[in-house]
Amino acid sequence: MSKKIMTCILLLCLFVTLLPSCAAKKEISKSFYFMDTVITVTLLDVTEKKAEPVFSDCNQILMELDLLWARQKKESDVAKINASASGDVPLDDRTVLLLQKALTVTEVSDGAFDITVAPLVDLWKSCEQAERLPTSLELSEVCAKIGKNNLYFEGNTLKKSSSEVQIDLGGIGKGAAIECLIAYLQSCDLQGGIVSFGSNVAVFGEKRDGSPFRIGIRDPKDPNATVGSVTLKNGEILSVSGDYERYVTIDGVRYHHILNPQNGYPASTGLSSVVVICTDGAYADALSTALFVMGVERSVALYQAATFDFEAIFIASDGRIETTNGLLGANFY
Ligand code: AMP
Ligand code: MG
Repeated sequence: MSKKIMTCILLLCLFVTLLPSCAAKKEISKSFYFMDTVITVTLLDVTEKKAEPVFSDCNQILMELDLLWARQKKESDVAKINASASGDVPLDDRTVLLLQKALTVTEVSDGAFDITVAPLVDLWKSCEQAERLPTSLELSEVCAKIGKNNLYFEGNTLKKSSSEVQIDLGGIGKGAAIECLIAYLQSCDLQGGIVSFGSNVAVFGEKRDGSPFRIGIRDPKDPNATVGSVTLKNGEILSVSGDYERYVTIDGVRYHHILNPQNGYPASTGLSSVVVICTDGAYADALSTALFVMGVERSVALYQAATFDFEAIFIASDGRIETTNGLLGANFY
């Protein structure tokens, strides 16, 4: 074979080997279902080959966290705490950290956020099945079992004030889980991407063209419309608590899922939704629930106290939008 033909064949081989790896870099998404929620991980500028093990690890991370925090799974940490008389059960470190953060938000929100709301969540669910409203006696009896002094740590040991204290991580678990996913994805030598986890969104890395990740803020009144958008930076998590997300329907009336632990009713502070942006996912999620219950005035006081580094958007039931100072560059219509 002549030298010229050999060179042509070699070049062709090189071209054929290089072609798939260059051409196959694209945006690839995969969805999972854990914690009663669809989770979608989108990776930018990635090959199928690189994405596949990353998705498999994401599945593993989510499966483990779901097994730890799902209330209805008998072997979960949450089920063990709920079944125990004193709360003193062996817990995974991730659960201890999550509970410590939950109790911190309970403290700073003066009980507006409280994971011991579980019996209240159950009462509203059972009333929906019975097609009736809870009575004020039922509500006050259940509220008496909720409260910031009912769950606490002695060193690293969790304590319950009575066997009746039950916890529900619905207001914080997804935020903590999205942060775990983002931390893993940041460690993977990837260009960047977005994770959506129910009403939580987070981004990691950056876009190849350097443009920011822009996230639309849903109009509480119209699932197909947005009221504006904000940009998220690498590692930032955005959590939304809205009165339109989950609810029970009794006698044709919708009662939303964010409960005021003080009176047992769905929180009613004139807000339709609260958006929180924070680099800590558990805090982002818990704070969005807390601020929804607290209303704008108390929330702004918490923001000004600067206990946490976060930004927030408040969308009132009449459509008015207010933001904290750090979001003045956000784009609202
Ligand atoms: P989110 O959608 O993040 O605001 O969380 C709402 C979920 O958290 C509900 O479905 C309940 O499981 C739970 N929850 C409701 N009210 C509260 C509250 N005041 N504090 C903590 N968790 C709550
Ligand atoms: Mg929340």
